[in-house]
Amino acid sequence: MRDIAYTDIVKAVRDLCIQANHQLPADLCSAIRNAQNTERSPVGRAILKDVEENFTIAAQRSLPICQDTGMAVVFCRLGQEAHIDGGLLSDAVNEGVALGYTEGFLRCSVVEDPLRRVNTNNNAPAVLHLELTAGDALEITVAPKGFGSENMSFLHMFNPSATQVEVEDFIVGVVSSAGSNPCPPVVVGVGLGGTSEMAALLAKKALLRPVGQENPDPFYADMEAALLSRINDLGVGPQGLGGTTTAFSVSILTYPTHIAGLPCAVNLGCHVTRHASKTL
Ligand code: SF4
Repeated sequence: MRDIAYTDIVKAVRDLCIQANHQLPADLCSAIRNAQNTERSPVGRAILKDVEENFTIAAQRSLPICQDTGMAVVFCRLGQEAHIDGGLLSDAVNEGVALGYTEGFLRCSVVEDPLRRVNTNNNAPAVLHLELTAGDALEITVAPKGFGSENMSFLHMFNPSATQVEVEDFIVGVVSSAGSNPCPPVVVGVGLGGTSEMAALLAKKALLRPVGQENPDPFYADMEAALLSRINDLGVGPQGLGGTTTAFSVSILTYPTHIAGLPCAVNLGCHVTRHASKTL
């Protein structure tokens, strides 16, 4: 059994909140740069250039990439041979988020109660997803999620008789009806299978896959390529002002499901699909 100090988790989460909000992942930076060579609309190209300038300045001057610094979605993979010394994992994560957002001068966007809506003033609590794994390490990923894109999430519980085309039409329809709201170009996360809540979680997790990395299953790699092509033919374009770059990638995660159903969830990540990770 290996001890991991509570205070080390607090510091790691604090730093990851700031890092994720200041530095876009390298794969997404490359996608934004490359899209300037393929985007057919002059306005679209100009927007992509502005987006590149924005993330470059943010990284250079340690500023948030976007004013919406998001709700902190935190994925933890905890090895079963590790013991957290000094407190609860959830407390450490929430303390780290509170420190990261206040000390990092990131906008605090979380309200204590969904109906009474009083700001917690430190962006805590996080939305924490914990997975137990083999080993004695703790992998932490902080993925701040803005709600321009989060509000465009959809879940559809298909009949098991639904065809692949019907599922694809639903996914494309979600991106089409979202229009400019999720600040395109987007990253499209899809969760297929499991139960309703599993599909929603898979769709969110799918946003963590590096842009441009192919699905390891050739069947789903083909489906992702076909979906990306259809989505980029929609004409939504950068910031919804028209163009051929509506999405940078489509990422599908699957799970076994019941004979009587076919859940499909879509979670859209904006052009600021942020995440940063650290292993303790
Ligand atoms: S959807 Fe993304 S880019 Fe748009 S305001 Fe929210 S965080 Fe910023």
